[in-house]
This record gives sequence, structure tokens and C-alpha cells, in this order.
Amino acid sequence: MEKKYTPTIGLEIHAEMSTVTKMFCGCKNNPDEVRPNFNICPVCMGHPGTLPVVNKQAVKNVLKVGIALGSTIADFTEFDRKNYFYPDIPKGYQISQYKFPLISGGTLDGVELTRIHLEEDTATSKHEEGDFSLVDYNRAGVPLMELVTEPVIHSPEQAGAFARELQLLLRTLGVGEANMEKGEMRVEANISVSEYSAEETAKDHSKFGTKVEVKNLNSFKAVEKAIAYEVKRHIALIEAGEKVVQETRGWDENKQSTFSQRKKENSHDYRYFPDPDIPKFTLSEIPEFSRDVLSKELPELPWIKRDRFIASFDLKKEEADVFLYNPMLGSYFEAVVVELNAEKKAVRLAANYILSDVGAHLKVQPEIDLALKIAPKNFASLMALIVTNKVSSRGAKDILEIMWKGERDGVVAKDADAQKIAEQFDLLQKSDEGALKEVLHKIISENPGPVADYKAGKQQALMFFVGQAMKATKGSANPELLKDIAIKVIAELQ
Ligand code: ADP
Ligand code: MG
Ligand code: ZN
Repeated sequence: MEKKYTPTIGLEIHAEMSTVTKMFCGCKNNPDEVRPNFNICPVCMGHPGTLPVVNKQAVKNVLKVGIALGSTIADFTEFDRKNYFYPDIPKGYQISQYKFPLISGGTLDGVELTRIHLEEDTATSKHEEGDFSLVDYNRAGVPLMELVTEPVIHSPEQAGAFARELQLLLRTLGVGEANMEKGEMRVEANISVSEYSAEETAKDHSKFGTKVEVKNLNSFKAVEKAIAYEVKRHIALIEAGEKVVQETRGWDENKQSTFSQRKKENSHDYRYFPDPDIPKFTLSEIPEFSRDVLSKELPELPWIKRDRFIASFDLKKEEADVFLYNPMLGSYFEAVVVELNAEKKAVRLAANYILSDVGAHLKVQPEIDLALKIAPKNFASLMALIVTNKVSSRGAKDILEIMWKGERDGVVAKDADAQKIAEQFDLLQKSDEGALKEVLHKIISENPGPVADYKAGKQQALMFFVGQAMKATKGSANPELLKDIAIKVIAELQ
């Protein structure tokens, strides 16, 4: 009988906070600075005798994340020194938090969180050909939050979804860009495989398998693939009667596999102790850090907005997510909804047009401010024309194109309103029933074959007439109307 294995995953995610200055000094926090060692000073270079000053904005950012996640905010908190030697950490220690993190508990995407603390980022090293490395201290001292989840994730997809949701939250809160490709968000996955069921493993942690930590995951896909790879590898080892070694592994994007890096150090190796240069603080004594004050600064949270979009506008989760991930598109959609008085059919139509046609235009010209290009009011006027059958979908696409470009074939649009554009460019749908009836009469009398098919019960045959009539009217007729008229004409010709 095939054995049941339960993969268990816990994530440790680092994310740089977007702040004006670094964590403990006045240097600019600019992730896009290309000149090496440009934003540096004696503090972030770790010169002896310098004193760190805590960046309030960074603390607020992390507190906002905690409030959004329903976590407990510490009352007492302190910063600790995590001692280790490496060229990217010039002081010989990293200022981090150990026993008293800013945030504990809470959940994100159904995953329980252990803690979130604040620390400083390290420098970046470049290992050059030959026997030397270059170190750039622009990143040294950038505020970095570290979020740790409980070991409660059970699939690669769930881990990927969690990381995506965190990125979305950080962006929505405006506390971090969390671009994985740029290293602004870095995911480490702890993976183990248990030979017991998920329920048994959850109840009794001694039933966990040996965990392996995978680093260097710089895309969501890499997170998912590395976890899937490890789960397979662990199962193969267990089946072969071998032991999983507890270690840190890296992800090799080229080989699409993980490789052993080092045996994991224990936390006592770091000789953590409270940083004597930084005052310990009681958060409740600092008014700007109060939950009430910070709660008021929170925008609508992504999962709340998603549910609202799905429930109020009849969107699929994937559609809502496009709007969430592209806030300009999302707020544009909402502005259009207001113009449409939230009329259901028109709103659904607007979503379709914004997600497909407008989205395609924006792909080509991403720097465009959509609301300036096509005012929501005018976009709404186009939706109204479609809903009332005044333009065909073909005509609507043409109008949208004219709205985007402001002209067609060198003829400048005189007005930005959809109705006016439709009139100027002769794009209004011909719904003069008499004229359409004439067109269909001719087509139907010339095509006895499809008529017979239709009479034999083939509804599909109607589409032949609709298609022919569309051709005859150069796409300006309403297909639904054509269908109705065709049925009438056939009945009359009996
Ligand atoms: P360490 O002391 O080795 O850093 P922690 O207990 O601090 O271990 O946990 C670090 C991360 O590893 C957390 O995200 C936690 O959820 C996860 N983790 C702990 N044990 C396991 C396990 N057996 N399988 C998978 N993940 C685990
Ligand atoms: Mg750890
Ligand atoms: Zn500095």
C-alpha cells in the first residue's frame, strides 16, 4: 500500500521597508541607487563610536503590518545584537530583535504567524572572477522586517500564495515594494515531511520530519518549485530508508534543484544580547505608535477589497486580483463604477473592457495615467452605449481606440464623450428594423439550405444569417437584434 506523507512548511520572509532614511542613520534608503557605496555614513559602515538612532517610520511600517494581520503588538520591545562575522556586516553584528519582537501572532491567508520583527539589512557582495569580492554598503542598514510563520503550510502552492498575499499587503499598506526579483523581499522555506497524517503531525510536533531550510528563492515560482523539489527528495530518502539531514540548502535556478550549503547554526551561536546603544522602549508610551492612531492610517486591506470586488461586482477571484495588483486599474474601475451608478450589467461589462482592452493598451504604454487618458465619465458613457445596444461590440472597440488615441486615420475626435465620438465617426449601431429586415429577407431567400437546417431544429443555423447580415451592414448591426429579425423573417416566409 502506498504510504501517506504530510509535507510541512514554515516560511521566514524578509522584506525591506520603504522609508526615507535607513534604520539607524540618516542615509537615504534608495533601493534603486546604482552608484556603489553612495548612501553610506559612519553609522551604517559600523565605525566604532557611532550611535544608532531608531527610525520611527520603519517601526510604524511594521506595526501597521501587525495591525492589518490581527497580531499582538508588543508593549515592551528592544533591539538585540546578533553577532557574526561577514564582510557584509561591518560591525560584526546585525541589529535585530530576539526576545521581544514588535509583533507576535496573527494570521495571513489562513496561515498562523509566529512573529514579525525589525532589523537592519546587510550590504551586498559581488563575487568577481578571480580571487576577490566587491562589497556595496548602500543596502547596509536598510530597515528590514522579518516575518516568521508557524509550521502550518502543507503545499508548495499554499506557500506561494502566502508569499504573494504578503507582497500585496506590503504594497497596499505602502510600507514596502517587496519586489522579489530585486531582492526587496526574500523568502526562506523550512520544509519537512512527516510519515503521519496532517492531523497527527499538527497535534504532536514530535511527529514532524527533519526540516531543511532553503534559501536564495528570488521569485514566487522558485518558492513553489524548491518546496516541491524538497518534498520529493525527502520522500525518496525516507522510502530508501535513509535519513534527511538537517541543513541549509540553496536553490539552483539553472539546474532547477536544491543543493547543500551548510549545516544550520543554532541561535545560541549568535550570542544575542540587548544592544546597549539603543534605548529599550514601551510602545504604549509613544502616541504615534498607538494602535488607534495607526489603524486610522490603514487603507482598505487587500482581502477585504477582494471580497468586496467579488461580491459587489460579480468578478472572479483572478479578475479581482488583477485590480488589486494594479491599483491604478483598480481605482479606475471603481471610478467608472461610480459613474455607472453601480448598474450591474454595465459594471460587469466595464470590468471586461478594462481587464482586456484597456489592460492591453496599458501594457504598451504603462506610464500613462489612465484617468487622464480617458476620463471615467467618458468610459462610462461608452459602457452605456453598449448596454443600450446603440453600438455593437465591434463599434465599441473602435470608439475605445479613438478615445485612447484621440483620433482615427488623422481625423481628430471633436469630443471625448462616447456618444459624440460614435456620431462623428458613424459608429452608431443600425437598429432601424425595417432596413435590417430587408437585408435579412434577401439573405434568407437566397439560402434555402440553412433555412431548412433551422426548421429541422438547428438553432446554430441562425448564426449563418446573423453573420451574413453583419457582413452586409459592415458590422454596424446588433447581432441580438439580427437574430430576432431573422426568426421573424423565416416565420413570415413559411
Ligand atoms: P530555527 O530555530 O531552526 O530557526 P524555528 O523554530 O525558529 O527554527 O523555526 C524557523 C522556521 O521553521 C519557522 O518558520 C517554523 O515554522 C519552521 N519550522 C519549524 N519546524 C519545522 C518543521 N519540522 N517543518 C517545517 N517547518 C518547520
Ligand atoms: Mg530561524
Ligand atoms: Zn548611514
